[in-house]
Amino acid sequence: MEGLDEITSKTCFQYNKVQNISILGECMASAEIIAIGSELLLGETQDTNTHYLLSKLRDCGIDVFRTTMIGDNASRISKVIQEALTRSDIVITTGGLGPTIDDPTREAVALSFGCNLIFDEQLWQQIYEYFKKMNRNPTENNKRQAYLPELAAPILNPVGTAPAFYIYQKDKLLISLPGVPMEMKYLTEETVVPLLKRYYPENEIILVRTLHSYGLGESVIDELVSDLEKTSNPTLGLSAKFGQIDLRITAKGKTFLETKKMISDFEGLIRKRLGINIFGSDDETLISVTNHLLFEKGIQLDTLEINTNGSFSAVIDSKNLFRKAIRIDDTNAIPSEVFFEQHVSKTDHPYVAALMNHKDKSLNFIHSEIFLKTAKSIYQKERSYNNLTFSAEQPVLLALEFIRETIINEANS
Ligand code: ATP
Ligand code: MG
Repeated sequence: MEGLDEITSKTCFQYNKVQNISILGECMASAEIIAIGSELLLGETQDTNTHYLLSKLRDCGIDVFRTTMIGDNASRISKVIQEALTRSDIVITTGGLGPTIDDPTREAVALSFGCNLIFDEQLWQQIYEYFKKMNRNPTENNKRQAYLPELAAPILNPVGTAPAFYIYQKDKLLISLPGVPMEMKYLTEETVVPLLKRYYPENEIILVRTLHSYGLGESVIDELVSDLEKTSNPTLGLSAKFGQIDLRITAKGKTFLETKKMISDFEGLIRKRLGINIFGSDDETLISVTNHLLFEKGIQLDTLEINTNGSFSAVIDSKNLFRKAIRIDDTNAIPSEVFFEQHVSKTDHPYVAALMNHKDKSLNFIHSEIFLKTAKSIYQKERSYNNLTFSAEQPVLLALEFIRETIINEANS
């Protein structure tokens, strides 16, 4: 691990201002994140900083049980910081470190710790030099950024004007980072992660793996894995999104290898029960997995679509298409027997996928019919969706899942 001293000399200074540095040893640290900015509460800016910090803390094996979003008001922020420090070992704030009056984080932290804000000449010189490097002149306002709570050690910000800082007191660590995402990320990588590893070196590793299934209802899956949802390590959480059910496995262990094995053993149990219904994991999608399967098996689809705006063939990689998709955009629904006879049963190509949608505008329902002709047989599947609750992607996903399952089942038969 890179020594903190090296990091200190790169991005921090006055590090020795901080008293009582101690290693917390084996206890499991917990953290809270406080996203500061009235623009966040007004819905003008999406709080992506919290999202980023959550994954970084997770990678450091630090538990997060709560996050807060709060407007630019020093006394309210200071209360939130105090509360968070009573619950958690680490509190990270983002935002509100700019030079203007409505950037209240420095003042709020000073209030929380009952200390003064002190002008730091050395810090001011650093800010001044940063401006000079950018061919800009600092304003009087920028001097605000050279004030820090008396107990704080600055974290120099070489990619922006707002210096960050941290306070370590009574076994609690508070870190204040700028709101600008690029600056916040840079300082997290360069300084915060090493700082956390320094103070909480024995933390466990937390790993997460998400399995994806499509087509089975959440309650069916819940029944199949209900005992696994009650274990404490690894844990299993289900989440449903537009017909896809994700099964999120989280494991904590002492080493990466040990934790990885816990995840893969647990995954094995789930796969045994859900079998083919798990279509992929983590970044995989039904589109990527089905395309991969087609390519792997050397299958090229001949596609026919009616009333779908070509949305199905649009997601099939061109190398997996036998010829340019045939699209019929006819708002008057053709009866499915006619469609089947005219298009599906007559083609010579061994793999034909046909998708047909009928819309019932008055009921907001889409009725999807999928025909799949393989070298061995002809299959048909149908399903209705309320298109107010389900996305327009649903018929396409249903068709992809139908193709994926059929190809796997035929290969195994
Ligand atoms: P600066 O020196 O730029 O003023 P700062 O620490 O004061 O830094 P803010 O003024 O609070 O940061 O925010 C700067 C910009 O960063 C905002 O305009 C917003 O676009 C973005 N930002 C702030 N907080 C967040 C957040 N939690 N998630 C994503 N973006 C954010
Ligand atoms: Mg702000």
